[in-house]
Amino acid sequence: MKCDFYDCTSKATHKIYYEGVKEEFTTCKKHLSFMKDALIRYVISKFYKNKYNIFSGKTAFELSSTYGCPLYLTRLRCEENNLFLDELEYVVEMRKHKEKSRKVKNG
Ligand SMILES: [Zn+2]
Repeated sequence: MKCDFYDCTSKATHKIYYEGVKEEFTTCKKHLSFMKDALIRYVISKFYKNKYNIFSGKTAFELSSTYGCPLYLTRLRCEENNLFLDELEYVVEMRKHKEKSRKVKNG
């Protein structure tokens, strides 16, 4: 499997499967951050562009917790697309997540 980066020749790749759009990205280690950015752009274009002006904080949290897409990057791409990132919802999701993992730890 070849890395999705246009001129990459690396064969050591892994897949990022994004459940929300049932889409798979193939990336090598070197282009991982590029692919994370591509994933954010893809999610924005797929769901939000010309549709709503609010980008779900829940989606932003999912992108960061599951796929390692940094919040600042999601925020930046939102700004470029004239979207308002619901950071309050992001914080709420983060708290829920922390609460869940604490419960798991304590049994
Ligand atoms: Zn690559």
